[in-house]
Amino acid sequence: MLTEIDVAIIGAGVIGLATANEIAQRKKGVFVLEKNHTFGLETSSRNSEVIHAGIYYPEDSLKAKLCVEGKSLLYKLCDKYNIAYKKTGKIIVAADENEISGLEELYEQGRKNGVDDLVLLSRTELKKLEPSIEARAGLLSPSSGILDSYTLLKFLYSQAREKGAEFVFGTEVVGIERMGAKYRVEIRDREGIAAFISRVVINAAGLNSDRIAQLAGIDVAKAGYKLHYCKGEYFSLSSKYRNVVNRLIYPTPEQAGHGIHVTLRLDGGVRLGPNARYVEAIDYGVDETQKKAFYNSVKRFLPHVELEDLAPEFAGIRPKLQGPGEAFQDFVIAHEEKTGLPGLINLIGIESPGLTASLAIARYVGRMVKELFD
Ligand SMILES: Cc1cc2nc3c(=O)[nH]c(=O)nc-3n(C[C@H](O)[C@H](O)[C@H](O)COP(=O)(O)OP(=O)(O)OC[C@H]3O[C@@H](n4cnc5c(N)ncnc54)[C@H](O)[C@@H]3O)c2cc1C
Repeated sequence: MLTEIDVAIIGAGVIGLATANEIAQRKKGVFVLEKNHTFGLETSSRNSEVIHAGIYYPEDSLKAKLCVEGKSLLYKLCDKYNIAYKKTGKIIVAADENEISGLEELYEQGRKNGVDDLVLLSRTELKKLEPSIEARAGLLSPSSGILDSYTLLKFLYSQAREKGAEFVFGTEVVGIERMGAKYRVEIRDREGIAAFISRVVINAAGLNSDRIAQLAGIDVAKAGYKLHYCKGEYFSLSSKYRNVVNRLIYPTPEQAGHGIHVTLRLDGGVRLGPNARYVEAIDYGVDETQKKAFYNSVKRFLPHVELEDLAPEFAGIRPKLQGPGEAFQDFVIAHEEKTGLPGLINLIGIESPGLTASLAIARYVGRMVKELFD
C-alpha cells in the first residue's frame, strides 16, 4: 500500500512556500517536495528583490492584479513580522525625448491597474529628487520598494511548518500518473525511486514547471506551456556609489525585461541589472563580456559611472512563456480539470513580478484547493 497524502506541492521556491503556508492553515496532509537540499535556491534567491508596484502589465492580467494585491499583502506581512524592507520608491526615466511618450503610456497603464500614486516628473523635478541622474523626464512610483527575500522565504518556510506542512528536501519528482481520482507521484532521492498517492498536486516547479506538466500527461506545446529560459545577469557598482541614488532607477522598458536598472540593496549597496538574454540551458555564471553593455546602458542616465567600477555579481533565469520577439504572456495558474486532470494545479511562467505577487498567488491557489475539498 502506498502512503496517501492530501496535497503535494512540487517546489520550495517562494511560490511553493507561500502556497504551503496558505493551505496548511486549513488543511492537514500538505507535503512540499524539493529537489535541492533546502528551500529557495533557484529563481527566488536570484532576482532584484524589488517589490513592484504593478505598472507594466496589461489591465486585468493576472500579473497586474496579483502584483497589486501581492504588493499590499507583502508590505503588511513585512510590517507585522519584522521582515526587512524599504519602500524606496522608483523612477522610470526617459533618457531622451523619444522615450517620454513611453512614460506617459506607463502612467496610463499603471492607473488602469490600480496604481494610483504615480507622478510624471519634469527634468527639473527629477533632478531635485535624484541629483546624480541625467534624464529628460521621469515617472515616479512611490509604492515600489526592496525587501530581504531570504528572510521572507525563511519566514514562509517556518510558518508553513508550524501550521503542519511537511518539507521533503533532496527529493525530485520524476513521475505523475493519474490513478482513479488521485495521483501517483514518483520521486527520486538518495535512496532511489519511491512513490506515494496524493489527492491534489500543485506544480510550483519554476524553471521545470513545463516538464512537470508534461510528466502529468499534458501536451505542453499544445497547451502553450513551453518555457523559454531568459537569463538576467547583475553587476555590482563599487562601494563609492553607495547612496548615489535614493530610489530604484529604471530605464523605459525593453521587450524581454524591465531594462538594465539601478537597484538598491538594503545595505545601501548598488547593483545594476538584470539584462535579458534567451539561453538554452540553466547556467548561473555571469558572462563578464557583458560588462561593456551594462556600462553603456546605465551611462545613458548615470553619466558619472566608470567602467572599472562594475563587477560581476550573480545571475538568475526567468521562466518565460514568451519566446524572443513574442507578445506578452500572462502567468498560467490553472486547475487542469478541463484537460482531464482534476486536482492538478499548474503554475507556469511565474517570472517577474512573481516575488511581489507570491502571497496573492498563494491566496489564488488556496481558493482553488478549497473548492477541491469542499
Ligand atoms: C533576473 C530576475 C529578476 C527578478 N526580479 C524580480 C523582482 O525584482 N521582483 C519580483 O517580484 N520578481 C522578480 N523576479 C521573479 C521572481 O524571482 C520569480 O517569479 C519567483 O522567484 C518564482 O518563484 P518560484 O517558486 O515559482 O520558482 P523557484 O524559486 O525557481 O522555485 C521552484 C523550485 O522548484 C524546484 N523543483 C523544480 N523541479 C523539481 C522537481 N522535479 N522536483 C522537486 N522540486 C523541483 C526547484 O529546485 C526550485 O526550488 C525576477 C526573476 C529573475 C530571473
